[in-house]
Amino acid sequence: HSRDFSLDTMLRANALRLAEREASVDGAQRLTWGELDARVENLARWLLTKGIAPGDRVALLLTDGAPFVTTLLACGRIGAIAVLLNWRLAPGEIGWIMGNAEPRLTFANPRFEALLGESEPGETVLVDEGHDPEGAFEAIVLVAQPPQDAPKLAPERPLYMMYTSGTTGRPKGCLQAGSAVATSALGMCTRRGWTQRERLLSVNPLFHVVGMQQIAAMVACGGTMIFAGRDDDAAAMLDLLHREQCTTTSAFPQILLPWRALEPVREGVMPLTDYTGGAGPGFVPLYEFIEQEWDARVVGGYGQTEICGFATAIDYPDMCAHPRSIGWAMPHVEFAILDPEGNRLAPGEEGEICMRGPTVMLGYWRNEEATEAALGHGWLRSGDLGTMDEKGLVYLLGRAKELIKTGGENVYPAEVDAVFAQMPEVADAGCCGVRDAQWGEAVKAFVVLKPGMELTREEITARFKSQIAGYKRPRYIEFVDQLPRDMLGKLQRLELSQRPVTPDQAA
Ligand code: ATP
Repeated sequence: HSRDFSLDTMLRANALRLAEREASVDGAQRLTWGELDARVENLARWLLTKGIAPGDRVALLLTDGAPFVTTLLACGRIGAIAVLLNWRLAPGEIGWIMGNAEPRLTFANPRFEALLGESEPGETVLVDEGHDPEGAFEAIVLVAQPPQDAPKLAPERPLYMMYTSGTTGRPKGCLQAGSAVATSALGMCTRRGWTQRERLLSVNPLFHVVGMQQIAAMVACGGTMIFAGRDDDAAAMLDLLHREQCTTTSAFPQILLPWRALEPVREGVMPLTDYTGGAGPGFVPLYEFIEQEWDARVVGGYGQTEICGFATAIDYPDMCAHPRSIGWAMPHVEFAILDPEGNRLAPGEEGEICMRGPTVMLGYWRNEEATEAALGHGWLRSGDLGTMDEKGLVYLLGRAKELIKTGGENVYPAEVDAVFAQMPEVADAGCCGVRDAQWGEAVKAFVVLKPGMELTREEITARFKSQIAGYKRPRYIEFVDQLPRDMLGKLQRLELSQRPVTPDQAA
């Protein structure tokens, strides 16, 4: 097809222009773009011999590394849809997703074999991650299979499905076109000025859109992907970052903070030249040391699985000037704030953050109702509430479904969290809405105190009174040791709202 464009287009270009340059470093295994392309071709032909046709699903239950990337790219080459599975899910959840996706084949790390207990994974290939040269996966990718007739591929064909965690109802398989993945990768490279000299320390899981966009961007610019290893040891990752002279990463805050503690005792200069992370209130103090102590440029952003990664970006100096903003649209995305009927709202007016452009998802797999709700108005409805100013700076207020409605007023949880962020005794805090006989809903806060610090409910209430309208003040406060956050640091507010409310928590 004359308008065909995908990661495969860029992989083939790298295999020609950058054949001898390093594409990936995964433990002891180093692959050039030429070698990676050859492995992808072998695996693609093997999949064809297995009868995999365009549109067939191939599930990946793999940790991050070269086999994951090889399998994804091979699926792309023959038009199969890779189903990217989160291996932190329970067997029942994996089973439900497999039932929905109906893969013909599954590539699985032996570590996760038990996870498939309640699934119908089709034929299963156990992938010897750790690169046993005798292993089944190596045997496939190293064998030059006889050429096969190339399948006829439709343009805008799906490359992968990621199941969004679905805080309400069943998870939804977000279907992304190969052209969308490639476009979002190019957008990232353009916005960051990335070239083949980039060396990415890949820390974020590849079954999640942040990690995937980073990897896709390396395919786009011809840089090198360095996989951080299969455990979460921050010190080991930092060693690797130095050893491999990594220039960029989007390691999440839980990794960055230990790095910061470890870095001053190390010799040598931090090789990072840039960092990509979330944008919005709360991130600025975290990024200050990356800019000032490590001399690396920070760009924050906002994104979604459904828009194929980061859709906004804001440089650190702009973040300092506009700390509440999530930035401007990336080059490939257009933003609008719409009311429920789909009308555009004026600058400053609150409504739903909507996006359009070539990286909007194709839809949710076998879920027309959810697809229509998300895409029906000609825009992708994000489910997030926000505003945009005259200059195009976007502000995120919070998720529509997390908005707290108390006594006829709206409270954005992030506003309440921000008040706690300024209290020196508080290590972490988050709030949610809980059912309340008097107000419909009331704000409940969960507070983690710093070790050795004390703070009473009365003291918290007194500080809130001087800072924020009365109806936004937490009516219940529970002190906890830790908040439920996902691996990207995102607070699980639904889980908080399901915890019991007791009279002794009243503030
Ligand atoms: P779900 O639970 O609905 O499946 P998810 O968290 O698994 O969602 P993602 O697509 O990873 O799915 O998350 C996207 C959401 O994360 C956005 O809609 C927004 O609410 C939130 N988000 C994205 N960027 C930021 C940011 N910079 N700051 C705060 N929140 C953000």
